[in-house]
Amino acid sequence: MVFNKLTSVALVLGSLLAVKAAPPLAKRATCPDGHTTANSACCFLFPLIDDLQKNMFDNGQCGDGAHEALRIVFHDAVGFSPTKGGGGADGSIITFAQQETAFPGNEGTDEIVAHLKPFLSRHNITPGDLIAFAGTVGVSNCAGAPQMQFALGRPVAKAASPNNLVPQPFDTVPDILARMLEIGFEFFEVVWLLTAHSVGSADHVDETIPLTPFDSTPSIFDSQFFIESQLRGTFFPGTGGNHGEVESPIRGEMRLQSDHLLARDPVTACEWQSMVDNQEKIQELFPPTILKLTQVGQDASKMIDCSDVLPVPPPLIGTAHLPASLTHNNVEQACADTPFPVLRTDPGPATAVPPVPNTLP
Ligand code: CA
Ligand code: CA
Repeated sequence: MVFNKLTSVALVLGSLLAVKAAPPLAKRATCPDGHTTANSACCFLFPLIDDLQKNMFDNGQCGDGAHEALRIVFHDAVGFSPTKGGGGADGSIITFAQQETAFPGNEGTDEIVAHLKPFLSRHNITPGDLIAFAGTVGVSNCAGAPQMQFALGRPVAKAASPNNLVPQPFDTVPDILARMLEIGFEFFEVVWLLTAHSVGSADHVDETIPLTPFDSTPSIFDSQFFIESQLRGTFFPGTGGNHGEVESPIRGEMRLQSDHLLARDPVTACEWQSMVDNQEKIQELFPPTILKLTQVGQDASKMIDCSDVLPVPPPLIGTAHLPASLTHNNVEQACADTPFPVLRTDPGPATAVPPVPNTLP
């Protein structure tokens, strides 16, 4: 079993490396605004970037706008099932917002949908492309994020997604992995995708504390999420007893039950731990995994690679560490194969994480 898992990881890594090894596209189109890109069909994205940065991301911040834009990529894309239907990453969560944002798994997505809609009238873009693009541009604002990838060409959705396709934080690991496998993601890719929680926060798990982050560095694309989710939980950041929430190790930090269990499950624990203090790995694997997510249910062969319009992310801030006052004694080692990496503890009094600033206009 372990051999099979390792083999499949190696195969996927091999194919990703093959993608990475492809020579960069030569820039050959000059856009009316002076930007250059490999394909003139991508030119209209430059003014869209400026508009998003100004009016969605608080002038290029990795704040709640960027977090929400990345989150809705997932909620749009998982609306696909080989047996139940749905168009995946097709923008249906905007086109059929009334139905889809009311689904239990999509709680709170009505806010980001309302923020995204005006961009559709200002730019000639489909809802599916807008969701994929906004999520990709937003994460590019986070320090330490990798150079992302984006493909253009999602037709307008013809129908809403069926209900009950979005994994919930209170679902079991087998249920979550089975659902994700239905849309083409292996268990290790689910772990890679969850790097998104390094720059995420929750508004509705505990309604009393909106904008509560999942790690102590919610504006930095680092491995702290994988470290801190592995530590013994001792606090609820707000009220206890919320469905899908378990205790976290740091004041002000939210831990989803699903993240807690995935970090400790025999199937996923070693892959989870392999992300700890491994910035190179999380940077290498996140762009192709998000690209794949933004192509669920789509014909990738008909899409145009517009990756070269995307911003260059700011460099990483800080290094992997245990939060102040916590040591390796607080690690709940779950991977049976290799020990948890040795990390320094941040100096000073116990870390307390403030809420993510509310910057969405
Ligand atoms: Ca969808
Ligand atoms: Ca982080």
